[in-house]
Amino acid sequence: MVVILKEDRRQEQMDNLTNWLKSLGIDIHVCNGEHQTILGLIGDTSSVDINLIKALDIVEDVKRIQEPYKNANRKFHPDDSVVVIDKEKDIKIGGGNFQIIAGPCSVESIDQICAIAQAVQKSGATMLRGGAFKPRTSPYAFQGLRGDGIKLLLEAKKITGMPIVTEIMDISQLPLFDEVDVIQIGARNMQNFELLKELGKTNKPILLKRGLSSTLQELLMSAEYIMAGGNENVILCERGIRTFETYTRNTLDISAIPALKTLSHLPIIIDPSHATGISRLVKPMALASAAAGADGLIIEVHNDPARALCDGAQSLTPEAFDDVAKSVQGILPYAYKLN
Ligand code: PEP
Ligand code: MN
Repeated sequence: MVVILKEDRRQEQMDNLTNWLKSLGIDIHVCNGEHQTILGLIGDTSSVDINLIKALDIVEDVKRIQEPYKNANRKFHPDDSVVVIDKEKDIKIGGGNFQIIAGPCSVESIDQICAIAQAVQKSGATMLRGGAFKPRTSPYAFQGLRGDGIKLLLEAKKITGMPIVTEIMDISQLPLFDEVDVIQIGARNMQNFELLKELGKTNKPILLKRGLSSTLQELLMSAEYIMAGGNENVILCERGIRTFETYTRNTLDISAIPALKTLSHLPIIIDPSHATGISRLVKPMALASAAAGADGLIIEVHNDPARALCDGAQSLTPEAFDDVAKSVQGILPYAYKLN
């Protein structure tokens, strides 16, 4: 971080600033130019409030020259991270390991979740998704089967052996997630910092979805919350962002894949279902994501989309999913060569 000082300053103000920064454990390199004095701050400045320094009378401007996230930063971890989901079954994401997660938006019944689990597994999905706690825009919409939904996912896991991925909405629900393999933080909770901190204390893989209107830096800062607590098993997920376009539910930011790969070592997966909201668009977006270097996909599949209790319009039938999964597997060898 560099601090550019104003010309008209008193020595006493300068001393106050440098003493305060030193008390934070930061070394200061003073550069006296002909027209400007610049302070180079050396050390861990991630906890320094840039706006607090900017507000000082003697400060002209402050610039960060390093990102405020350390654990998630590729600069400090040049190799891709690999998140291990199931060691015995050798299911891992990142560093050349591509996984497809599939399943319904919401768990509805034992028959529904087991039928979909078996179908998507046959097509090559390696993990089962299904919402038990559902963050719905309307309080009158189906809110999910909650704890019972997790029990049904565990039944489907028993039958298929597939690791399960499901969303947590509140810290109080954590005891119900003991046997859940991957805990999802939904877009609406990406900045629920207390929840992120709590999940940082666990060693569970966390699927962290990008917020509806969040920047990549904000997404990485949320990952940092989890990692700062000691949990390095974070998988990033781009699921579409809010733009002026209304034809699609959201706008899929494909550029987030190479951009995040540059900034971070964490695996990144794409959710083409929530990104588009339209089942017909899922296949081309899934293929584009794989070609752009994604480490995996999370796709909504329903045995009867027209009667789904949630997100039917974007859900694939098992047959359509089979086509998408096989097409994606078909281009992966080329995608690896390109990226
Ligand atoms: C979901 O995965 O069902 C979901 C609610 O996703 P998002 O948080 O991305 O909207
Ligand atoms: Mn959904």
